[in-house]
Amino acid sequence: MRCNPHSRKLIVWAVVGGAVLTVGVAWWSGFYEDCFNGTACRIVTSMSGPAWQGALVANGVMANGVLSFAIEAEPSNVKVAQSIVEGPAWSRIRTKPTREQVDSFHALFEDARGWPLPALMALHSSDTTFAVWETDWGFSLVGYQGNYRVPRALPLRPIIGGFLVDWTVFAVVSYLVLYRISHARRNALIWRKRCVVCGYPRGTSAVCSECGADR
Ligand SMILES: [Zn+2]
Repeated sequence: MRCNPHSRKLIVWAVVGGAVLTVGVAWWSGFYEDCFNGTACRIVTSMSGPAWQGALVANGVMANGVLSFAIEAEPSNVKVAQSIVEGPAWSRIRTKPTREQVDSFHALFEDARGWPLPALMALHSSDTTFAVWETDWGFSLVGYQGNYRVPRALPLRPIIGGFLVDWTVFAVVSYLVLYRISHARRNALIWRKRCVVCGYPRGTSAVCSECGADR
């Protein structure tokens, strides 16, 4: 592939398109998919407690939202901070909560969305009532997900590795689509005897009389 100005422009648009699609897919999922909703959620890790649970959105349009879940256990009403030993690598709550965090929060939900890997996440926290939730790293939406009435949100915090993978995937797809479109457009212009750069009727001259392109 010769890297002429035309293909450089295609690459720039593909990179931009890849970023837009990465965010768009994650937000689409945050907007439409309830991470708790019955069959749409599959618990992939569960500890007695529960200290940490991960839920993978196994069905639906964007079947890769991941939700990690940390909650203190309250045996005999004694607050105990449990070790959180497992969680996805991007999780900010996979480490054992501090005494202060346990006293101040009852539950933390990390809601990560994206395809093929989680690319953006939001963090929701609630006190012991589960009645009031605060959302960080996300635009709150109207409505709730699940029995705990966790807010819905468009996630904002990038998960670097996942974001880069998704960006790459969507940039490649964008490039292929844009390449096909520009190729078809170019062929149509040649067939109609028009300049491939500006679309002006070229006639039989070798150089375009409108923009000076040589073919
Ligand atoms: Zn021209």
